[in-house]
Amino acid sequence: MALDAPVSARLKPGVVTGKDYETLVAACKAGHYALPAVNVTSSNTINAVLEAAAKNKADVIIQLSNGGAQFYAGQGFPDGSLAKVLGAVSAARHVHMVAEHYGVCVVLHTDHANKKLIPWVEGLLDHGEAFFQEAGKPLFSSHMLDLSEEPIDFNLSECARVLQRMTKIGMSLEIELGVTGGEEDGIGGEFDDSADNSKLYTQPEDVLQAYDKLNSLGDFSVAASFGNVHGVYKPGNVQLRPSILKGSQDLVTERHGTPENPLNLVFHGGSGSEKDKITEALGYGVFKFNIDTDTQFAFSEAVGKFVDDNAKAFKYQIDPDDGTPYKKLYDPRKWLRQAELGLGARLDEAFEDLGSKGRSLAEA
Ligand SMILES: [Zn+2]
Repeated sequence: MALDAPVSARLKPGVVTGKDYETLVAACKAGHYALPAVNVTSSNTINAVLEAAAKNKADVIIQLSNGGAQFYAGQGFPDGSLAKVLGAVSAARHVHMVAEHYGVCVVLHTDHANKKLIPWVEGLLDHGEAFFQEAGKPLFSSHMLDLSEEPIDFNLSECARVLQRMTKIGMSLEIELGVTGGEEDGIGGEFDDSADNSKLYTQPEDVLQAYDKLNSLGDFSVAASFGNVHGVYKPGNVQLRPSILKGSQDLVTERHGTPENPLNLVFHGGSGSEKDKITEALGYGVFKFNIDTDTQFAFSEAVGKFVDDNAKAFKYQIDPDDGTPYKKLYDPRKWLRQAELGLGARLDEAFEDLGSKGRSLAEA
């Protein structure tokens, strides 16, 4: 139950879409907290995220990149493009099956899709529409279209076209304006630590243009760039300027007479960010905070430690000296469980930093 939310804002646990999704986003913004959006690639990573959310009594966003979706279907899947669609669908169906039993609200989302990946999103929407016929709700809560490398007119007209399709089945669209530095799954802007990084800062006028074009068509959110970069680099190369977000919110409010923070904002490249900059961004309408690099490391670090501590079990089924059987240590569940716990521990920190700990809107 959210500390600031009225009792009427309780939601059914499980995957939230449509009006329930909008309620959840509004509660985050009103309460100045955000949900971690964690990239997943497997049932292990999904279950670890759900477990951590339940433990922290927090709602959470589970998202798949195109590469994560492909991996979910299998790296050996014969058709890579189809794997990106079916892997995402398969992961989403797993989440629909189990999420409500963890007792928290879960947003299902897909990450960056550039121009080449528009067919991926449309393939997902084919499945989303079929699921809607059968279940009365969409398969995903939202998708992202990242056409920030294209001219803004193309970016916004494509987003408008896809959003109109999504609105019919109660889905939301995340768009990107400006360029998040660094790369993720081969998508994303360049980031050169010696170069002029002015492109890393979104222009408030572009955000206003997006609002004018999309607001009447459906629910959308904006990944605005304010110096955020995918991946973790040595400090000092890029300056986070959350005031860019405030400037965009204020411009829309001024032109349209909306209440403050009319835009739903998304923080990409959250791994490794300074905590005071995170807190500042939360005051400017950021409800979603992407985290991938840090949770990847937490997952793998835990396995590394387990292998170091039990090195023999990863070389021998039976100890060559004293005959000890190592089955209980090399059973993949044993070390994958350590990975899940490692990821979960990093999310404990994220829920705390983002203010979402203890604030699940899910009814008991
Ligand atoms: Zn991103």
